[in-house]
Amino acid sequence: MSTYNFFEQVNKNFDKAAKYTRFDKGVLNQIKKCNTVYHVSFPLRRDDGSVEVIEGWRVEHSHHKMPTKGGIRYSHKVDEDETMALAALMSYKCAIVDVPFGGAKGGVKISTRSYSVSELERITRRYTFELVKKGFIGPGVDVPAPDYGTGAREMGWILDTYRQMKDDLNAEACVTGKPIQQGGIRGRTEATGRGVYFGIREACSVKKDMDALGLSTGVEGKTFVVQGLGNVGYHASKYMTEAGAKMVGVSELEGAIYDPNGMDLQALMDYRKETGSIIGFGNSKELPSNKDIFTQECDIIIPAALESQITGDNANGVKAKIIAEAANGPTTADAHEMLKDRGALIIPDSYLNAGGVVVSYFEWLKDIQHVRYGRMNKRFDEESLMRIVKELESINGKSYSEETLKKLTHGAEEADLVDSGLEETMITAYQQITEIRSEHKLDDLRTAAFINAINKIGTMYEQMGIFP
Ligand code: GLU
Repeated sequence: MSTYNFFEQVNKNFDKAAKYTRFDKGVLNQIKKCNTVYHVSFPLRRDDGSVEVIEGWRVEHSHHKMPTKGGIRYSHKVDEDETMALAALMSYKCAIVDVPFGGAKGGVKISTRSYSVSELERITRRYTFELVKKGFIGPGVDVPAPDYGTGAREMGWILDTYRQMKDDLNAEACVTGKPIQQGGIRGRTEATGRGVYFGIREACSVKKDMDALGLSTGVEGKTFVVQGLGNVGYHASKYMTEAGAKMVGVSELEGAIYDPNGMDLQALMDYRKETGSIIGFGNSKELPSNKDIFTQECDIIIPAALESQITGDNANGVKAKIIAEAANGPTTADAHEMLKDRGALIIPDSYLNAGGVVVSYFEWLKDIQHVRYGRMNKRFDEESLMRIVKELESINGKSYSEETLKKLTHGAEEADLVDSGLEETMITAYQQITEIRSEHKLDDLRTAAFINAINKIGTMYEQMGIFP
């Protein structure tokens, strides 16, 4: 098994795209570099009274826009290289979907399963304390969010700690992905998976691309396998199956299963909750190893776990025509080339999983505006629509049913606006990438996405003052 330097993998993709841009080496090097890397260690008093040293990082990759933005990951695999790579990916991701932030990432090297909830709370609060102390968090500075191993609960602890230390009117905007009661936004939990679905739907709607793959257009009827049923994998699968796609394989920590006739996602989730495992579910067969999920017969592979999963070691066995990168960096650079040579369409992470940060941006906007989306206009819109409908009724001499009236006059609520904003963003970004792909006659979307990001960030750096 080869070892991969993740940051180097990201930079390889960057270099490939940089050739198609107008920037000189100096500007390109400035874009690539991580601007600030903060490594911290602090003690944790464990529940049994013993003391353990915890290691954490926060990397701000690019300050071309402020604040910087990116999740905090809790995993025993966290290290400086991984955090730098993920921070860089955040800069490119934000640029691709026109979210006006620089990229950042945080990580704490812990396996969450080994700690109690109160230990996790102490770790989160102390880590936040360290960030506040060094100016690595704040609504206009650096705004964390959930990532692998963290969620709304941790974000709530982060906000509370920040608020105790800072007298800041905009405190709620110091972190996103929070519980609704603490300034969170409806739709943030589902956002990354929802965005993954919108991205796959866009890719599957391009007839020329589907013809080249020997597939019909549309999501409906396509088969897919998913690696990871965490927040991203679960929601991506949910929206895929709701749109008529068939889930034929799943891989999780405990193993992998495959059933060519398809599986019911909700029943599988219930089964796993009950038994603690996906193995033995329905008529599925267990696969020899987790990574065998990638070599099963299907149309789409959705890796939704960690980086470096599809590598030079297993890429040749991949039969799927579409690789939908819901995780960050799941395909190594050499595997990418092998898959491309076999004619596969890779929908790159930097675009496909951007739904999370897109809705984080909406949450941040909500928090600095101190008002819920829809609050000012929902009722006004509903009354205007009702006046129009009543006018139509009198012109046409017919009346609509109560139910139709409700549908016709529905004023947008927060959840509607978030979903609509996310859909619009994913569609527009896909169009931008495919245009760049045609312009440069490229055969892959990753390079096109990187060109798009480099062009946007490079232009900012060109205009930036260089102080002596
Ligand atoms: N952790 C997510 C990502 O990798 C979300 C980041 C955010 O919302 O700031 O994109």
